[in-house]
Parts: sequence; C-alpha cells; structure tokens
Amino acid sequence: MPRTAIVTGSTSGIGEGIARALAAAGNNVVINGFGEPAAIEKLRASIAAEHHVTCLYSSADMTKPDQIEAMFSTVKEKLGPVDILVNNAGVQHVSPVEDFPVAKWDLIIALNLSSAFHTTRLAFPGMKAKKWGRIINIASAHALVASPFKSAYVAAKHGILGFTKSTALEGAQHGIRVNAICPGYVRTGLVENQIADTARARGISEEAVIRDVLLAAQPTKEFVKVSDIAAMAVFLTTEAANQINGAALSIDGGWVAQ
Ligand code: NAD
Repeated sequence: MPRTAIVTGSTSGIGEGIARALAAAGNNVVINGFGEPAAIEKLRASIAAEHHVTCLYSSADMTKPDQIEAMFSTVKEKLGPVDILVNNAGVQHVSPVEDFPVAKWDLIIALNLSSAFHTTRLAFPGMKAKKWGRIINIASAHALVASPFKSAYVAAKHGILGFTKSTALEGAQHGIRVNAICPGYVRTGLVENQIADTARARGISEEAVIRDVLLAAQPTKEFVKVSDIAAMAVFLTTEAANQINGAALSIDGGWVAQ
C-alpha cells in the first residue's frame, strides 16, 4: 500500500525536490504552494506520470488555519490519513530589526512556525491510530545559530526546532518520529531573493554577498543541493531511521561546527 505524503511549499525549491523524491520512493504525494496554475499542473502531472503514484495539488495558504484544515479533510477523503508530513513552506525577509516590517514578522512566524503546529495537530490522530507516522520539519542552520538582519526567520527556525523536540517526545511511543533537517544555503528562489536583499541591507555587491556572507559561513564553500536534502528526507521515512527522533540533522557543509 503506498503511503500518503504531504509536502507543504512544494511548487519550487527544496519542497519540490522532496515531493519528487518521496514519489520516486513510491509514496502518493500532495504538493502545495503558490505559483502559476499551468506550471503547477505540469509539475503535478509529471510527478504522477514519472513515478506511477497519485499526486494531488492543494492551493492552501499555510498561514491560514482554516485552509490547512480544509486541505487535510480533502486529502483524507481522497488518499486516506497522512503518513508522512513534510513542513517545508517558508519565506525569508532581511532587514535591521528596527525597520523590520510588522506584517513581515507576522507572516514569517505564521508560515515558518505556526503552520507546522496546525499540520502536526491535524496529522497526529491518524498517525497515532496507524501507529506509524513521519514528520520532517525543514528548519535551517538558522535553527541553531543566528545571522544579523534575519530576526523573524531565526526566531521561527529556533522555534520549529523546539516544536520538533516536543512533538517527537509526544509521538515516541506511538510509532511517530519527528525530526528537523537543518540545511545551510541551497540556491533556490528564496536564496536568490536574499542575495539581493542582503546586498541592499549591507550596502555591498551581490558577488560579495555570495562570497563573504553566504559561502563564508559554509566551510565547504559550496551550496547544498536540493537533492541532498531530499535524500535525507526519504531516508527518514525508512525503517533504518526508526530510532532517529527529535534530531536536528545538519546538512550545511560544516557551518554550525564552527
Ligand atoms: P522556495 O521559495 O523555493 O520555496 C518556498 C515554497 O513555499 C514555494 O513552493 C512557495 O510557493 C511556498 N509558499 C510560500 N508561501 C506560502 C504559503 N503562504 N502557503 C503555502 N506555501 C507557500 O524556497 P526554498 O529555499 O525551497 O525553501 C523551502 C524551505 O527550506 C523553507 O522553510 C526555508 O526556510 C528552508 N530553508 C531554505 C534554505 C535555502 O538556502 N534555500 C536553507 C535552509 C532552510
């Protein structure tokens, strides 16, 4: 029986890579996120066709608890209870704290932190009933260390790590495993935007941001690949990962080892 996986924020970047990899491993997959409808339909259809699984798309805005609830009801009706939940949707905003737009703070906390609370509380009952569930929270190196000008993001990512540990303990004796993956810099749309924003905030060129800010933090001096994160996510759904619970798994070229 194929399992049912939801990957939030999977119309691009890391989430898309994880959705594709979970489908390649034989899971039915629900993709979610924003974008151009024709491009999203192309992505949905290609995942289904390439991997011979069911792939559904949910347009739920992960900052809206009522839309998250509606997504879970639809998925349960069409594919059964959720077995694998990947909380990946996230945005970034770079600004000195005194200028940080209040609406951006609220958005980042709602999307990067509170959405995982809503999806997890809705996934837990079905996982407990089946005595099996895997929750993977895409945190960040910024769940473990900080950078200036990213106060909301760092607060939300530190928060998701605490939430990961607490829910890992709650699920431990019910066959549920909850872990966080903490990537370093992956060159997705989110990072491309940050390069421009950081250049403005620090008054330096974009080349200098890549060399002196982003890859300065990463001892390998290489970006992490989406496929590196996707492979770890798939591994966490396998039997070999059964005793990994409540962990913060760094994939950051050695960033937080410093
Ligand atoms: P991305 O911008 O490529 O993808 C973000 C996804 O979230 C998109 O599918 C977008 O449509 C979706 N999204 C945005 N707002 C949404 C909303 N309100 N509701 C539902 N979906 C929404 O970015 P990415 O780099 O792939 O980031 C994915 C996750 O990985 C984020 O949580 C991010 O913090 C984390 N992360 C990224 C990096 C990196 O360097 N790229 C590093 C560490 C952690």
